[in-house]
Amino acid sequence: MSTTILGYPRIGARRELKFATEDHWAGRAGADALAATGRELRATVWNELRDAGLDAIPSNTFSFYDQMLDTSVLVDAVPDRYRGLTGFDRYFAMARGVQDLPPLEMTKWFDTNYHYIVPELGPGTRFRLAEGAAAKPLAEYREARALGIETRPVLVGPLTYLLLAKPSTPGFRPLDLLDGLVDVYAEVLERLAGAGAAWVQLDEPALVADRTHEEIGALARAYARLGRLTSRPRLMVGTYFGTIGTGALRTLAGSRVEAVGLDFVAGPGNLDVLASVGGLPRKTLVAGVVDGRNVWRADRRRAKATCAALLGLVDRLVVGTSCSLLHVPIDLDAETSLAPDVRGRLAFARQKVDEVVALGRALREDAPDAAEALEASAAEAPEAGIDEAVRERLGSIGDARRGDRAVRFAAQRDALGLPELATTTIGSFPQTPEIRRARADRRAGRITEDAYEQAMKDEIARVIALQEDLGLDVLVHGEPERNDMVQYFAEQLDGYAATEHGWVQSYGSRYVRPPILHSDVARPRPMTVEWARHAQSLTSRPVKGMLTGPVTMLAWSFVRDDQPLAETARQVALALRDEISDLEAAGIRVIQVDEPALRELLPLRDADRPAYLDWAVGAFRLATSGVADTTQIHTHMCYSEFGEIIGAIGALDADVTSVEAARSHMELVGDLRAAGYENGIGPGVWDIHSPRVPAAGEMEENLRRALRAVEPARLWVNPDCGLKTRAYPETEASLRNLVVAARRVREDVTG
Ligand code: GLN
Ligand code: ZN
Repeated sequence: MSTTILGYPRIGARRELKFATEDHWAGRAGADALAATGRELRATVWNELRDAGLDAIPSNTFSFYDQMLDTSVLVDAVPDRYRGLTGFDRYFAMARGVQDLPPLEMTKWFDTNYHYIVPELGPGTRFRLAEGAAAKPLAEYREARALGIETRPVLVGPLTYLLLAKPSTPGFRPLDLLDGLVDVYAEVLERLAGAGAAWVQLDEPALVADRTHEEIGALARAYARLGRLTSRPRLMVGTYFGTIGTGALRTLAGSRVEAVGLDFVAGPGNLDVLASVGGLPRKTLVAGVVDGRNVWRADRRRAKATCAALLGLVDRLVVGTSCSLLHVPIDLDAETSLAPDVRGRLAFARQKVDEVVALGRALREDAPDAAEALEASAAEAPEAGIDEAVRERLGSIGDARRGDRAVRFAAQRDALGLPELATTTIGSFPQTPEIRRARADRRAGRITEDAYEQAMKDEIARVIALQEDLGLDVLVHGEPERNDMVQYFAEQLDGYAATEHGWVQSYGSRYVRPPILHSDVARPRPMTVEWARHAQSLTSRPVKGMLTGPVTMLAWSFVRDDQPLAETARQVALALRDEISDLEAAGIRVIQVDEPALRELLPLRDADRPAYLDWAVGAFRLATSGVADTTQIHTHMCYSEFGEIIGAIGALDADVTSVEAARSHMELVGDLRAAGYENGIGPGVWDIHSPRVPAAGEMEENLRRALRAVEPARLWVNPDCGLKTRAYPETEASLRNLVVAARRVREDVTG
């Protein structure tokens, strides 16, 4: 019985990677300094894992930005436009763009809040193994080895890599590139074997989603080829985030790979699938029994029972995490202010490694004391808090829906008096060093509550004045008081706890500190009303109230797993419903309920989707249906590929939906209309994920393209997302261009 984990956080216990990367981007530190930080971080993790007593330690789980981008670099899938650059310059240009060179697309990694850089593959793509530092799995394997630590390099599997790629020309199928890609993987494996690697982990999470016969055929072909290599490490195919398909597991069972990883947390069905294919008689199973994505302590008795049940089905069992620990904070011991009854339920990455090691020990027959310790730890976990009043109110609320949409449209047109192609922003304005300092000073007690409030009110006044000067139509207060759109609310709601150092990577150097939803949720008092009221008092133009929707409040938190998400979502929705009533009563006429995470929680399998969308839409409507027809409800989502949720966007029944569109050139406006969405739509015309300033002409062109699918009175003009990560110079310049673009197009359509 041995132990492993599928991956570990790469950002450093004190966010070292973020600071080093940002120093490099800002020109404060050269490539060598950044590379050195990477080396230190990797060494720290490897040493830590070894000291914890883990048997098999992964490598190549570090990344300066993202593991999918690393894979693109490894196999030289670099679009021509970046080839003029080299090294980190090329790497970061692909990730985040530079002026006149837009980045690759970025999207969410399965149903997590981690974002990967989407490979762009086409008929001209020729895979080839990169050399030097770009041949990262080799470099990192050797680096660990030089430290005396034997590791198992981790690669994104070839099938998953291609299935997550995007064609550079319409109609092209990345999967057609499989054979060429597998050739490069073969070379990587041979070189790793030559360097001494005994095992390699190939991550194929794509196998837990529905897969076609053709895709399963591709899987068989790829692993048959890799399996036949004469000189190669042993292969472990890792799957996670759900239950593997029967066809996929049967294929792997029949292949020459030596080990398969299955997720027994997100994929409880894996036990049945495994039994249905007759187990893995001559293979090793890496049993993901410790949740790699959530912060709760393992139910060690249950984990042990799962392992015991598996023993009969496989040749050899390895106790592991359900997925990479990339998705959880690093160390619970760094937290000093969690209530004991919450803390007692938690385990972060370090603690999860200990859990894996302890489970391995308890399962070894020669360690009876470890089994006892396991029983004791299971007995002492505290339970979630219950709020009877919230439960009663939810039980008595009936159908949550708004009135007729045409009536609402007319009522809002009269009440708000907005022009066609109305301009707005998504909510946040740049978070300046002064704003951050004021928040930090308040937290540390260096300034009084009054001084803090005044600083925020002054900032709001500045942002309102700026927007009036820019000529925007629907204003925002700029969200200076919010560090994070979920955490801000979580801090004010009962049932949530915040961490001090619980950072996890969202994309690149952007990390989030998800709050922990541990008990029943209730709103003890209004959360945003005073700021909104202040902002509205400074202008006659409508100011948008700004809230975070119930699905996003769950998706970007660590949520209790002792009751269905649907139930927890309704508790959050009820709190938001009360907040929306209070905003309306305070004279706020436009209220935006952001749901950027709606798609993220979408189950990976078709069969599970309707039930999810049903509760997600229901929670949004519960939150937003208590308002008058004249009150305009907006929602916002940070992506443009709607796919299976396109029907749900309409069902949310927001009056206006803003979405990401700049990187994908407005494709989605037509898609949305075709799916029967008839309300207002704001396709983002400025990609705010990049520091680049789009020209007015570029945005104008996007608007004209959008107008082919939507009438001017329903077209809104806005950026892709909030501006909090941007700086003022590019924000002002871009918004000025945005208003110019809207005016030019507006003049044309109104004659
Ligand atoms: N209102 C939020 C903001 O502007 C929305 C952010 C988001 O969609 N992620 O920051
Ligand atoms: Zn957004």
